[in-house]
Amino acid sequence: MEFKAFENKVWLSSPTMHGEEMEYVKEAYDTNWMSTVGKNINEVEKITCEKIGCKYAVALSAGTAALHLAVKAAGVRPGDKVFCSDMTFDATVNPVVYEGGIPVFIDSEYETWNMDPKALERAFEIYPEVKVVVIVHLYGTPCQMNEIKEICDRHNAIIIEDAAEALGATYKGKSCGQFGNYNAISFNGNKIITGSSGGMFLTDDEEMANKVRKWSTQSRENAPWYQHEELGYNYRMSNVIAGVVRGQYKYLDEHIAQKKAIYERYKEGLKDLPLQMNPVDEENTRPNYWLSCILINEEAMCKQVRSEQEYLYVSEKGKSCPHEILDTLFKYNAEGRPIWKPMHMQPIYRNNAFITREGDGRAKTNAYIKGGTLGKDGRPLDVGMDIFQRGLCLPSDNKMTPEQQDMIIEMIRSCFE
Ligand SMILES: *Cc1c(COP(=O)(O)O)cnc(C)c1O
Repeated sequence: MEFKAFENKVWLSSPTMHGEEMEYVKEAYDTNWMSTVGKNINEVEKITCEKIGCKYAVALSAGTAALHLAVKAAGVRPGDKVFCSDMTFDATVNPVVYEGGIPVFIDSEYETWNMDPKALERAFEIYPEVKVVVIVHLYGTPCQMNEIKEICDRHNAIIIEDAAEALGATYKGKSCGQFGNYNAISFNGNKIITGSSGGMFLTDDEEMANKVRKWSTQSRENAPWYQHEELGYNYRMSNVIAGVVRGQYKYLDEHIAQKKAIYERYKEGLKDLPLQMNPVDEENTRPNYWLSCILINEEAMCKQVRSEQEYLYVSEKGKSCPHEILDTLFKYNAEGRPIWKPMHMQPIYRNNAFITREGDGRAKTNAYIKGGTLGKDGRPLDVGMDIFQRGLCLPSDNKMTPEQQDMIIEMIRSCFE
């Protein structure tokens, strides 16, 4: 079936501006606070604390900078193993390595696509010395926080929460970004609200908030000259960027409502196809629905193989695969994306340990081979690679019209014909 290409590209998730951002940017300009000091910064820190319910927020140049200083705050030393979510963006994990730590990857679960508490428990059996756990709420869907926190508390481990994709999401009524000891959010251009870039370190620990603020401004001591006792970083947020974030914050709830409507329209429009949407636990959580994703049923997958940088598939009647759908969307000027490739399969982290809910990890779970090894429950043991193989992110832009989305749904449908 042929479709008419979209005149303007339908993006995965692009910035949605409202005009008020410019007023705060202009205020920074007019008052000459064109620096990493100023009212916009103070205001966005205040607003963030109020929205999320944390005591302290330090505005930084990026979510990655916030994660880096969180890893430093957690006291990770060279050679320390750190448990990390496996299916995530590499910015969750790289900061561990900046400090010389060694990520140990914990497999995902089908229930949330986030860190599997059962695999985390096993990881502590294998590495009881580990003291830091980095978790992510992927695509704006909260992890099973109670289970993870209980396990970490029992092992006296510090939690670093990467809430970069989950600003505004809640778990049992509490906001993401306040569950860990040290937490990070992001205002990167594709996030639920944006500053064009930027991020924030969040904590309830006053002493650490002050330390992070100091580290982020080159660790200057309180002296008349440049005096330094510790290693410093130039990580502070610009007052111009903070102006954009300040204007965007008012629209956070509106953006979430739009993203939720997109998710629900996909769910309804695709319900008779052999696939599922990314999971939502409506009883316990309110995701921010940042990206809508689908997971194609195993029996409806046509043949698809991936090398390190290329892919091939064979179209088949009644079946499809992520790359057939992505190619179709691309052909008509819409942007989808594969699921974030699990860290344990990334060339840079391939030799790091990877812990699954049973068995002894990667040796038995090469999911490049169709299906991979199955667990006792009959499901693939390497959950992250299974989701990567069968899943994809759909165009989830706030500005996509219902008509455009209906077209996208028809395009996806055509792939299964
Ligand atoms: C975007 C993102 C980050 C990094 O945030 P930046 O502000 O781009 O540095 C970290 N973790 C996850 C999961 C992200 O999606």
